[in-house]
Amino acid sequence: MQSDERTEAIIWTHEGVRRHDGVVINTAHVRCAQLEIDTRVELRLHNASRRDVDRTLTPFLPIASVVAWVTNRLMFMDGCVDGVALRGAEQGAALLAGEDRRITARRIKTVRATRRSSKIGIWFSRGVDSLSALYENFDEVGVLLGLEFIDPPYANEPQRAIWAETVKAAERVGKPLWHLSTNARTLLDPLAGWDFTHSSVFSSLGLLCAPRLKEAWLAGGHRESTSQFQPSNRNDVQQSWSSRHMAIGQPPGETRRNMKAAIVAKQPVAQAFLRVCWEADRPLNCGVCLKCLMTMTNFAFTGQLEPVSTRFESALSLAQIKSLELADKGVGSILLLDDMIEEMPPSELRTAWEIARSTYPKEAHELRTTYYL
Ligand SMILES: [Zn+2]
Repeated sequence: MQSDERTEAIIWTHEGVRRHDGVVINTAHVRCAQLEIDTRVELRLHNASRRDVDRTLTPFLPIASVVAWVTNRLMFMDGCVDGVALRGAEQGAALLAGEDRRITARRIKTVRATRRSSKIGIWFSRGVDSLSALYENFDEVGVLLGLEFIDPPYANEPQRAIWAETVKAAERVGKPLWHLSTNARTLLDPLAGWDFTHSSVFSSLGLLCAPRLKEAWLAGGHRESTSQFQPSNRNDVQQSWSSRHMAIGQPPGETRRNMKAAIVAKQPVAQAFLRVCWEADRPLNCGVCLKCLMTMTNFAFTGQLEPVSTRFESALSLAQIKSLELADKGVGSILLLDDMIEEMPPSELRTAWEIARSTYPKEAHELRTTYYL
């Protein structure tokens, strides 16, 4: 372990795996006095046994990779990790940072002959990306992976209702839903926004399931042409977080959101359970926020808004689009918007979107040359 008085390492001490009320919990104690970090990060698989999870520090590596990127400090994994995942975590951090990052470990796990699982899991959020990837690869997908926000400050009654609907949607899909949770945002949120960190959290939870999964897929929201400007959507970074036993990455399939909407609109599960709006804790999509209006436009693009229209509280409105104020929106949303406008033929709808787009201060080419952090 290296420690320097000026730039102290961030230490991840493995506290092991315990089972409580049917929930298997892998815990790492993360500390750095200089950054005032002293947090226990828990990765949890519900309704499971200890044999179902990776009981080493390996699953924490994707999150540590992002922390290495944003803090530019040495990560010391004080426990046992997979060698492939360790090198991958360094590589992922370097891809994100554009320069080297260091992650070291007390012990590299020796390879044991274990029977690999043949199952592929896909993250299931009921959104357009998640549903289109599921239905494009339906026969290959064995398991749906679901993240419930049960930790403060995100746990509340509407979140419980959202999870209950996800459980119902999975039953309708007809594939098992694995229930996962984590308090990793307690560590991550003070360091960087969820836009920057979320894929590391999903990847870590995927690796937690290594004894039971061959691959974990996280559908990306961005096309390849723009994903490099949205760190949580970089497939090269996600793939680097794979371990010797398990692959992490994005599913194959359509990358254009208009075409994803066309795939999704035909599915009864989407017509009953589509959820894209995170502006407010409510059962339906609001129909008036940027995300909702963009998604409705994606469906309208191929004339398929009608089958999913009952999932939105309001009808698609040109006036509502024109009144959007986008100055404080995240770069990721605006990149998606630019992509959408680019594909639209001249129409009143396109003009309305151009008016909304003009309220965001940066041009498309500026956004695509902006460094993330
Ligand atoms: Zn909305």
